Amino acid sequence: MEYDRKVEGYRPVAERLKHFREFTQPMETTDLEKQGARCMDCGIPFCHSGCPLGNLIPDFNDAVYHGQWEKAARLLHATNNFPEFTGRLCPAPCEEACVLGINQDPVSIENIEKNIVETAFAKGWIHPEPPLGRTEKKVAVVGSGPAGLAAAQQLNRAGHWVTVFERDEKPGGLLRFGIPDFKMEKSVIDRRLNILKEEGIRFKCGVHVGKDLPAAALKEDYDAVLLCGGATVRRGLPIPGAALQGVVQAMDFLAQNNRKVADVPFEGAPIDARGKHVIVIGGGDTGSDCIGTSFRQGASSVTNFEILDKPPLGRPEGQPWPFWPMRLRTSSSHLEGADRYFSISTKAFKGDPQGRLKSLITVEVEWEKSNGKRLVLKEVPGTEKEWPCDLALLALGFTGSEPTLAESLGLEMDPRSNIKASARDYKTNAPGVFVAGDQRRGQSLIVWAISEGRQAAHHIDAFLMGRSELPLKGGGDLPRI
Ligand SMILES: Cc1cc2nc3c(=O)[nH]c(=O)nc-3n(C[C@H](O)[C@H](O)[C@H](O)COP(=O)(O)OP(=O)(O)OC[C@H]3O[C@@H](n4cnc5c(N)ncnc54)[C@H](O)[C@@H]3O)c2cc1C
Ligand code: SF4
Repeated sequence: MEYDRKVEGYRPVAERLKHFREFTQPMETTDLEKQGARCMDCGIPFCHSGCPLGNLIPDFNDAVYHGQWEKAARLLHATNNFPEFTGRLCPAPCEEACVLGINQDPVSIENIEKNIVETAFAKGWIHPEPPLGRTEKKVAVVGSGPAGLAAAQQLNRAGHWVTVFERDEKPGGLLRFGIPDFKMEKSVIDRRLNILKEEGIRFKCGVHVGKDLPAAALKEDYDAVLLCGGATVRRGLPIPGAALQGVVQAMDFLAQNNRKVADVPFEGAPIDARGKHVIVIGGGDTGSDCIGTSFRQGASSVTNFEILDKPPLGRPEGQPWPFWPMRLRTSSSHLEGADRYFSISTKAFKGDPQGRLKSLITVEVEWEKSNGKRLVLKEVPGTEKEWPCDLALLALGFTGSEPTLAESLGLEMDPRSNIKASARDYKTNAPGVFVAGDQRRGQSLIVWAISEGRQAAHHIDAFLMGRSELPLKGGGDLPRI
């Protein structure tokens, strides 16, 4: 009733486009404490169920309001291994479920979360917590994205010896080689990795399980194996001209740029947006990251196409509070000057005699209900248009998990090309082999990956020891931090 919602602002566009660093403007502690005061400590806090981790949101909001930042940090770490990732990158389904959001702006939960964990790091409250004893059980985790890292930390805390295998040169998964530095600087990952290493987790990078190391060997050498390899198969666009030079998969562009920013070698020909008319095809997170990266590389123009209709600004009918609504979302990258078009489909790429992309052809589309149920795509006659374009970035999503590991371990897949396991126990059909994160649920969110990693750790611990005290969703004993 007394305070309006306030979150960290952004540095001006002209200034932030000169670099790849984060660009949010810090808030005063007193302002953050006032934001904590906006939480109403509801009898039934719907934000708990909005958050896939079951974060203890009213509790840490109240601690912040009372200036008890160390208590807030303990509450936050009781449910979330890496609030510095979610506090920067989560789309905050908790805020869509906040009761205050029914008729006002919701509590700025994500921003409070980020500031709690950053205060805790700055004050030195976060330090390694090695287990008090060891079980002598060995667990192999394949993949070091947020799912693998969360599971590794939980299993290590239960006293098991954990080794994380990662085919990239450094751990982090999409946090390191997908998401650009301007959304999260990689020092944020390294800071947490140092803690994990000091706690006793071993990392073997540059090891592609299934190629450099047979997956079956892991099963023999370890008491349990957890697969967290992500959903990495990219969707293509098989239309005329797709093989032209300048038609590029978004992930090739983003991963290469992150390596450039980190000043480490990359494979393949350089992909550079400087001076080019860039068209990003696909309106999701990946597309948005391509927009911000293209602007920072010096693109002449950046245009974004989305095949779906433009969603409404407010909640659509049929998606009431406290559910996650499909409404128009505008990222900081969109605000940097991209032209966005909806209900548009790309029909063909056109090139010059040297095979270089020069333009693309689109058509407007409509989504019609067939038999009053399924939406069917219809092209609008007479709406074909040619757009100048020298770099087209395909950000069309991912179609599932790579098949190598599943094939070599004889694992069943689900109908969506993910490795099959129930969220009840994360067990695959191979005894002792578990799967979590995007490799189980398909391309999703960091908060879900952490949540699945934590829960899989509980079930692996129970498989190894007969029972587990590791928490499932929500709290458990509050850690020292
Ligand atoms: C460009 C982009 C931007 C995104 N932005 C956001 C965002 O802002 N907010 C958000 O919440 N989510 C975002 N997401 C989604 C989010 O990054 C993922 O949901 C999350 O990283 C999944 O975590 P994971 O641990 O399951 O898998 P990943 O992060 O994909 O990690 C899998 C790891 O396994 C490794 N691996 C795979 N197979 C093998 C093998 N055989 N041997 C060894 N290693 C292997 C891979 O190299 C990789 O490091 C984004 C996704 C993309 C692509
Ligand atoms: S992790 Fe995401 S959903 Fe959970 S409290 Fe933080 S911002 Fe909200």
